Amino acid sequence: MPVPAAVRVLVLGGTTEARRLAESLAGDRSVRVTTSLAGRVAAPRLPPGEVRVGGFGGPEGLAAWMREHDVDALIDATHPFAAAMSRNAAEAAALAHVPLLALRRPGWVAQDGDHWHSTGSLAEAAGLLPALGERVFLTTGRMGLAAFAGADLDALWFLVRSVDAPEPPCPARMEVLLDRGPFTLEGERELLRRHRIDVLVTKDSGGDATAPKLTAAREAGIPVVVVRRPPVPEGVPVAATPDEAVEWVRRF
Ligand code: NAP
Repeated sequence: MPVPAAVRVLVLGGTTEARRLAESLAGDRSVRVTTSLAGRVAAPRLPPGEVRVGGFGGPEGLAAWMREHDVDALIDATHPFAAAMSRNAAEAAALAHVPLLALRRPGWVAQDGDHWHSTGSLAEAAGLLPALGERVFLTTGRMGLAAFAGADLDALWFLVRSVDAPEPPCPARMEVLLDRGPFTLEGERELLRRHRIDVLVTKDSGGDATAPKLTAAREAGIPVVVVRRPPVPEGVPVAATPDEAVEWVRRF
Protein backbone atom coordinates (compact mmCIF):
# COMPACT_ATOMS: atom_id res chain seq x y z
CA MET A 1 0.00 0.00 0.00
CA PRO A 2 1.34 3.49 -0.78
CA VAL A 3 2.36 5.49 2.28
CA PRO A 4 0.16 8.61 2.58
CA ALA A 5 2.08 11.87 2.21
CA ALA A 6 2.59 13.88 5.40
CA VAL A 7 0.24 16.80 5.96
CA ARG A 8 2.22 19.98 5.39
CA VAL A 9 1.45 22.60 8.05
CA LEU A 10 2.76 26.17 8.08
CA VAL A 11 2.71 27.81 11.51
CA LEU A 12 3.09 31.59 11.65
CA GLY A 13 4.99 31.87 14.90
CA GLY A 14 6.79 34.18 17.29
CA THR A 15 4.88 33.08 20.40
CA THR A 16 5.15 30.46 23.14
CA GLU A 17 1.97 28.84 21.81
CA ALA A 18 3.44 28.53 18.32
CA ARG A 19 6.50 26.81 19.77
CA ARG A 20 4.33 24.43 21.86
CA LEU A 21 2.25 23.63 18.78
CA ALA A 22 5.39 22.85 16.74
CA GLU A 23 6.64 20.66 19.61
CA SER A 24 3.37 18.68 19.61
CA LEU A 25 3.28 18.32 15.83
CA ALA A 26 6.99 17.47 15.48
CA GLY A 27 6.46 14.08 17.13
CA ASP A 28 3.79 13.10 14.58
CA ARG A 29 5.25 11.46 11.46
CA SER A 30 2.08 12.11 9.51
CA VAL A 31 2.67 15.86 9.82
CA ARG A 32 5.46 18.01 8.42
CA VAL A 33 5.59 21.35 10.22
CA THR A 34 7.36 24.54 9.26
CA THR A 35 7.37 27.52 11.61
CA SER A 36 7.75 30.99 10.18
CA LEU A 37 9.35 33.76 12.25
CA ALA A 38 9.37 37.44 11.36
CA GLY A 39 13.03 37.82 12.37
CA ARG A 40 12.42 40.66 14.84
CA VAL A 41 14.22 39.01 17.77
CA ALA A 42 18.00 38.70 17.51
CA ALA A 43 18.23 35.27 19.20
CA PRO A 44 14.77 33.65 19.05
CA ARG A 45 13.88 30.44 20.88
CA LEU A 46 13.63 28.05 17.97
CA PRO A 47 10.89 25.43 17.74
CA PRO A 48 11.49 21.86 16.52
CA GLY A 49 10.73 21.11 12.88
CA GLU A 50 11.64 23.32 9.97
CA VAL A 51 12.02 27.05 10.53
CA ARG A 52 12.03 29.87 8.02
CA VAL A 53 12.72 33.51 8.89
CA GLY A 54 11.58 36.84 7.39
CA GLY A 55 8.51 38.38 5.77
CA PHE A 56 6.81 36.78 2.77
CA GLY A 57 6.15 40.05 0.96
CA GLY A 58 2.47 40.56 1.77
CA PRO A 59 -0.48 38.21 1.28
CA GLU A 60 0.47 37.42 -2.34
CA GLY A 61 3.97 36.40 -1.21
CA LEU A 62 2.57 34.16 1.50
CA ALA A 63 0.06 32.62 -0.91
CA ALA A 64 2.88 31.95 -3.41
CA TRP A 65 5.06 30.39 -0.68
CA MET A 66 2.22 28.07 0.34
CA ARG A 67 1.59 26.98 -3.23
CA GLU A 68 5.29 26.40 -3.86
CA HIS A 69 5.66 24.33 -0.68
CA ASP A 70 2.37 22.41 -1.02
CA VAL A 71 1.01 23.67 2.29
CA ASP A 72 -2.17 21.85 3.33
CA ALA A 73 -3.03 23.91 6.40
CA LEU A 74 -2.05 27.32 7.77
CA ILE A 75 -2.08 28.20 11.47
CA ASP A 76 -1.73 31.83 12.43
CA ALA A 77 -0.15 31.50 15.87
CA THR A 78 1.32 34.99 15.87
CA HIS A 79 1.00 37.33 18.84
CA PRO A 80 -2.54 38.70 19.35
CA PHE A 81 -1.18 42.15 18.43
CA ALA A 82 0.50 41.09 15.17
CA ALA A 83 -2.60 42.34 13.32
CA ALA A 84 -0.96 42.95 9.93
CA MET A 85 0.33 39.37 9.72
CA SER A 86 -3.09 38.02 10.75
CA ARG A 87 -4.79 40.03 8.01
CA ASN A 88 -2.21 38.80 5.50
CA ALA A 89 -2.77 35.20 6.63
CA ALA A 90 -6.53 35.48 6.07
CA GLU A 91 -6.04 36.99 2.62
CA ALA A 92 -3.33 34.52 1.59
CA ALA A 93 -5.38 31.53 2.77
CA ALA A 94 -8.26 32.69 0.56
CA LEU A 95 -5.92 33.28 -2.41
CA ALA A 96 -4.21 29.88 -2.12
CA HIS A 97 -7.34 27.97 -0.98
CA VAL A 98 -5.59 26.74 2.15
CA PRO A 99 -7.62 26.20 5.36
CA LEU A 100 -6.65 28.66 8.09
CA LEU A 101 -6.90 28.49 11.88
CA ALA A 102 -5.97 31.28 14.30
CA LEU A 103 -4.35 30.14 17.54
CA ARG A 104 -5.02 32.88 20.12
CA ARG A 105 -4.43 32.49 23.82
CA PRO A 106 -7.34 34.03 25.76
CA GLY A 107 -6.98 37.62 26.93
CA TRP A 108 -6.60 38.54 30.61
CA VAL A 109 -9.65 39.23 32.76
CA ALA A 110 -9.69 41.88 35.50
CA GLN A 111 -10.13 40.57 39.04
CA ASP A 112 -11.33 42.10 42.29
CA GLY A 113 -8.85 44.72 43.40
CA ASP A 114 -7.62 45.55 39.88
CA HIS A 115 -7.61 49.18 38.70
CA TRP A 116 -7.55 48.70 34.95
CA HIS A 117 -7.97 51.36 32.28
CA SER A 118 -8.86 49.80 28.95
CA THR A 119 -7.63 51.58 25.81
CA GLY A 120 -7.86 50.94 22.09
CA SER A 121 -4.29 51.89 21.18
CA LEU A 122 -0.82 52.72 22.49
CA ALA A 123 -1.46 56.41 21.69
CA GLU A 124 -4.60 56.37 23.81
CA ALA A 125 -2.66 54.62 26.61
CA ALA A 126 0.00 57.37 26.45
CA GLY A 127 -2.71 60.03 26.75
CA LEU A 128 -3.96 58.55 30.03
CA LEU A 129 -0.57 58.43 31.75
CA PRO A 130 -0.13 62.01 33.10
CA ALA A 131 -3.32 61.56 35.13
CA LEU A 132 -2.20 58.22 36.56
CA GLY A 133 1.38 58.69 37.75
CA GLU A 134 4.93 59.81 37.06
CA ARG A 135 6.87 56.55 37.13
CA VAL A 136 5.68 54.21 34.41
CA PHE A 137 6.48 50.53 33.87
CA LEU A 138 6.08 50.09 30.12
CA THR A 139 5.80 46.47 28.97
CA THR A 140 4.29 46.90 25.52
CA GLY A 141 7.45 45.91 23.63
CA ARG A 142 10.08 47.91 21.84
CA MET A 143 8.16 48.41 18.59
CA GLY A 144 5.52 50.93 19.71
CA LEU A 145 7.67 53.20 21.86
CA ALA A 146 7.16 56.21 19.58
CA ALA A 147 3.68 56.58 21.09
CA PHE A 148 5.34 57.48 24.42
CA ALA A 149 8.01 59.77 22.98
CA GLY A 150 5.92 62.96 22.77
CA ALA A 151 7.05 66.12 24.59
CA ASP A 152 3.79 66.09 26.56
CA LEU A 153 5.16 63.05 28.47
CA ASP A 154 8.61 64.53 29.19
CA ALA A 155 7.75 64.91 32.89
CA LEU A 156 7.26 61.14 33.21
CA TRP A 157 9.94 58.52 33.82
CA PHE A 158 9.69 55.13 32.09
CA LEU A 159 11.03 51.71 32.93
CA VAL A 160 10.92 50.01 29.51
CA ARG A 161 11.16 46.23 29.47
CA SER A 162 11.82 44.53 26.12
CA VAL A 163 13.58 41.50 24.67
CA ASP A 164 15.89 43.54 22.42
CA ALA A 165 17.06 47.13 22.85
CA PRO A 166 14.57 49.74 21.62
CA GLU A 167 15.45 52.24 18.92
CA PRO A 168 14.44 55.92 18.80
CA PRO A 169 12.01 57.59 19.01
CA CYS A 170 11.81 56.67 22.69
CA PRO A 171 10.57 58.45 25.85
CA ALA A 172 12.88 61.28 26.92
CA ARG A 173 13.46 59.86 30.42
CA MET A 174 13.74 56.09 30.48
CA GLU A 175 15.67 53.12 31.75
CA VAL A 176 15.71 49.98 29.61
CA LEU A 177 15.50 46.54 31.13
CA LEU A 178 16.37 43.81 28.62
CA ASP A 179 14.56 40.67 29.66
CA ARG A 180 12.08 38.13 28.39
CA GLY A 181 9.45 36.09 30.23
CA PRO A 182 8.43 34.00 31.96
CA PHE A 183 8.55 36.39 34.92
CA THR A 184 7.93 35.49 38.57
CA LEU A 185 5.56 37.20 40.97
CA GLU A 186 8.38 37.81 43.43
CA GLY A 187 10.50 39.37 40.68
CA GLU A 188 7.66 41.63 39.53
CA ARG A 189 6.86 42.76 43.09
CA GLU A 190 10.52 43.63 43.61
CA LEU A 191 10.69 45.54 40.31
CA LEU A 192 7.63 47.66 41.14
CA ARG A 193 9.05 48.38 44.61
CA ARG A 194 12.62 49.14 43.56
CA HIS A 195 11.62 51.53 40.79
CA ARG A 196 8.76 53.10 42.78
CA ILE A 197 6.36 52.43 39.89
CA ASP A 198 3.03 54.34 39.90
CA VAL A 199 1.45 52.88 36.79
CA LEU A 200 1.88 49.82 34.56
CA VAL A 201 1.16 49.77 30.82
CA THR A 202 0.57 46.46 29.05
CA LYS A 203 -1.05 45.01 25.97
CA ASP A 204 -3.74 42.40 26.65
CA SER A 205 -1.33 39.70 25.53
CA GLY A 206 -2.84 36.99 27.76
CA GLY A 207 -0.98 33.87 28.92
CA ASP A 208 0.78 32.93 32.14
CA ALA A 209 4.34 33.93 31.28
CA THR A 210 3.84 37.67 31.69
CA ALA A 211 0.75 37.70 33.97
CA PRO A 212 2.58 38.05 37.34
CA LYS A 213 3.00 41.81 36.71
CA LEU A 214 -0.79 42.12 36.90
CA THR A 215 -0.91 40.35 40.26
CA ALA A 216 1.96 42.47 41.58
CA ALA A 217 0.17 45.66 40.45
CA ARG A 218 -3.08 44.51 42.08
CA GLU A 219 -1.29 43.81 45.36
CA ALA A 220 0.40 47.21 45.28
CA GLY A 221 -2.80 49.07 44.30
CA ILE A 222 -1.11 50.30 41.11
CA PRO A 223 -3.32 51.24 38.13
CA VAL A 224 -2.81 49.28 34.92
CA VAL A 225 -3.42 50.65 31.43
CA VAL A 226 -4.44 47.67 29.28
CA VAL A 227 -4.40 48.02 25.49
CA ARG A 228 -7.22 45.98 23.95
CA ARG A 229 -6.51 43.41 21.22
CA PRO A 230 -7.26 43.91 17.56
CA PRO A 231 -9.97 41.48 16.38
CA VAL A 232 -9.16 38.22 14.59
CA PRO A 233 -10.03 38.65 10.88
CA GLU A 234 -13.67 37.86 10.19
CA GLY A 235 -14.57 34.26 9.46
CA VAL A 236 -11.31 32.76 10.74
CA PRO A 237 -11.89 29.94 13.26
CA VAL A 238 -10.02 30.36 16.55
CA ALA A 239 -8.32 27.79 18.81
CA ALA A 240 -7.49 28.89 22.35
CA THR A 241 -4.73 26.35 23.04
CA PRO A 242 -2.03 24.46 21.11
CA ASP A 243 -3.91 21.20 21.90
CA GLU A 244 -7.03 22.52 20.16
CA ALA A 245 -4.90 23.45 17.16
CA VAL A 246 -3.39 19.92 17.10
CA GLU A 247 -6.94 18.51 17.04
CA TRP A 248 -7.71 20.75 14.06
CA VAL A 249 -4.62 19.47 12.19
CA ARG A 250 -5.57 15.85 12.90
CA ARG A 251 -8.72 16.31 10.82
CA PHE A 252 -6.62 16.49 7.64
P1 NAP B 1 2.90 42.58 12.17
O1 NAP B 1 3.00 44.05 12.39
O2 NAP B 1 1.54 41.98 12.23
O3 NAP B 1 3.54 42.15 10.78
C1 NAP B 1 4.34 43.02 9.99
C2 NAP B 1 5.01 42.19 8.93
O4 NAP B 1 6.00 41.35 9.50
C3 NAP B 1 4.09 41.23 8.18
O5 NAP B 1 3.37 41.90 7.17
C4 NAP B 1 5.06 40.20 7.69
O6 NAP B 1 5.79 40.70 6.57
C5 NAP B 1 6.06 40.11 8.81
N1 NAP B 1 5.73 39.04 9.76
C6 NAP B 1 5.07 39.13 10.94
N2 NAP B 1 5.01 37.95 11.55
C7 NAP B 1 5.64 37.07 10.73
C8 NAP B 1 5.91 35.69 10.81
N3 NAP B 1 5.54 34.94 11.86
N4 NAP B 1 6.58 35.11 9.78
C9 NAP B 1 6.98 35.85 8.71
N5 NAP B 1 6.76 37.16 8.59
C10 NAP B 1 6.10 37.77 9.58
O7 NAP B 1 3.85 41.83 13.20
P2 NAP B 1 4.58 42.36 14.52
O8 NAP B 1 3.54 42.84 15.48
O9 NAP B 1 5.73 43.24 14.13
O10 NAP B 1 5.14 40.98 15.07
C11 NAP B 1 6.22 40.35 14.43
C12 NAP B 1 6.46 39.00 15.07
O11 NAP B 1 6.69 39.15 16.46
C13 NAP B 1 5.25 38.06 14.93
O12 NAP B 1 5.74 36.82 14.52
C14 NAP B 1 4.64 38.02 16.31
O13 NAP B 1 4.10 36.75 16.60
C15 NAP B 1 5.82 38.34 17.22
N6 NAP B 1 5.44 39.09 18.41
C16 NAP B 1 4.74 40.25 18.30
C17 NAP B 1 4.37 40.93 19.46
C18 NAP B 1 3.53 42.19 19.38
O14 NAP B 1 3.23 42.76 20.47
N7 NAP B 1 3.15 42.67 18.23
C19 NAP B 1 4.75 40.43 20.70
C20 NAP B 1 5.50 39.25 20.78
C21 NAP B 1 5.83 38.58 19.62
P3 NAP B 1 5.37 40.36 5.04
O15 NAP B 1 4.15 41.19 4.77
O16 NAP B 1 6.59 40.73 4.26
O17 NAP B 1 5.06 38.88 4.99
